[in-house]
Amino acid sequence: MKSVKHWINGALADGDDRTAEIFDPATGEVSGHVALASAADVDAAVAAATAAFPAWRDASLTKRSQVLFRFRELMYAHRDELAALISSEHGKVHSDALGEVSRGLEVVEFACGIPHLLKGGFSEGVSTRVDSYSIRQPLGVVAGITPFNFPAMVPMWMYPIAIACGNTFVLKPSEKDPSASLLMARLWQEAGLPDGAFNVVQGDKVAVDRLLEHPGVRGVSFVGSTPIARYVYETGTAHGKRVQALGGAKNHMLVLPDADLDLVADSAVSAGFGSAGERCMAISVVLAVDPVGDELVEKIVERVGRLVVGPGDDPKSQMGPLVTEAHRDKVASYLDLGVEEGAKLVVDGRETAVLGGGKAVETPGFWLGPTVLDHVPPGSRTHHDEIFGPVLSIVRVGSYEEGLELINGGEYGNGTAIFTNDGGAARRFQNEVEVGMVGINVPIPVPMAFYSFGGWKSSLFGDTHVHGTEGVHFYTRGKVVTSRWLDPSHGGVNLGFPTNG
Ligand code: NAD
Repeated sequence: MKSVKHWINGALADGDDRTAEIFDPATGEVSGHVALASAADVDAAVAAATAAFPAWRDASLTKRSQVLFRFRELMYAHRDELAALISSEHGKVHSDALGEVSRGLEVVEFACGIPHLLKGGFSEGVSTRVDSYSIRQPLGVVAGITPFNFPAMVPMWMYPIAIACGNTFVLKPSEKDPSASLLMARLWQEAGLPDGAFNVVQGDKVAVDRLLEHPGVRGVSFVGSTPIARYVYETGTAHGKRVQALGGAKNHMLVLPDADLDLVADSAVSAGFGSAGERCMAISVVLAVDPVGDELVEKIVERVGRLVVGPGDDPKSQMGPLVTEAHRDKVASYLDLGVEEGAKLVVDGRETAVLGGGKAVETPGFWLGPTVLDHVPPGSRTHHDEIFGPVLSIVRVGSYEEGLELINGGEYGNGTAIFTNDGGAARRFQNEVEVGMVGINVPIPVPMAFYSFGGWKSSLFGDTHVHGTEGVHFYTRGKVVTSRWLDPSHGGVNLGFPTNG
């Protein structure tokens, strides 16, 4: 049985006695326990980060960048170990876990260029012998609160840039799959990051609330479900903090009649069932514009029938279990609800065979196979709710306009995609759709590290997306200096408003 602790000031820390169970989702068995921080544990982590801040902030840009380069190399060298840890607690298959590590590494690679990213502007002679320049400085201690579905990648959207900018960091990972955080902490230390500059508090609402209230925490990045994102944004900003809070999603793929239906079917199945649908950029609704619905569903069903569902550490598995029993049960409840609401259950994931087991519902572990619901009524709960599992809903629509209206009428605005061979239609879609990340013949349009990631509407609270240049902006404060040196020309006391001359 493993025991997952906090990481404070460069060492493991026990904290108080509260713990939660960690499961192996493939077997349903308890594999260990994770500490749940008290307010005092959070205070200890913030104190360590506060103490580490002055020296790290003053470390030269080249020194910071060198630490990041070393961290990148160590993370790369340990990527298999990290992926195995993720797989054992989250359930996703090893190749998928490796994929999240490599997407996270791209943010570290971006942050290695921090000397360039922090360059300010300089204007010579804004007034007679007066120059102006802008600089960006770190905030101080910043916190990251992250969800279960990407235990390595989502923290890596945040901390490489925060730390590169000269901040010190406190990570509060999901209590469902906490182990990756400790490996990352150890590798930071090995890379030469001073103790206290990266800390981990394991925990639940108690830890989150203390981070949101703590006067020493200057900024909070959050990724998780919409109700908690809203809460974190409102509570954090009420305590005077800068907050970016990314929430949930319900991503639609609009399929126009001229699209290549084999490409669409491959894309819908990959984006719908990768990571068992537990991705904020998963495609969960296909809007099939008449008359392609029947042919498309046939192609999707045929592909779903070939998917191999099994434990994440079996190289034959393409899709693993869900993260917890409660989550699996919630996702599975939409199969009956969908039918009650008028949809047709064309593939029932409860019946899917699991590698090394029997039917999904009868196999120990948190299993549910890929499920397809056709003719899902627009506006039904199955259409609207974030199910966050391997359930693909097909909604039939009569036109582009009808499809667009359904997307824009939804609560979320995280990701979307259009499939078409018509450049004009695609261009119109990118202009008209009210969603933050748009794919054109690309089903999961996750921006690269040098762009910024984030949705619209209830998928983001705050106005700053994560990573890329918006990340650099979030983790720094701007300052403009106006200077006059040597032989200043001045006309003595002047109470008038300073104007240029
Ligand atoms: P969650 O909201 O339950 O948890 C996220 C974090 O908040 C965790 O660290 C958790 O410990 C903490 N938390 C949970 N309940 C809390 C409470 N009552 N008060 C304070 N803190 C609390 O999310 P999850 O189930 O871990 O992750 C799945 C969700 O995350 C989905 O909704 C998914 O769409 C979303 N997500 C969004 C993005 C994005 O970029 N928009 C990316 C990944 C995941």
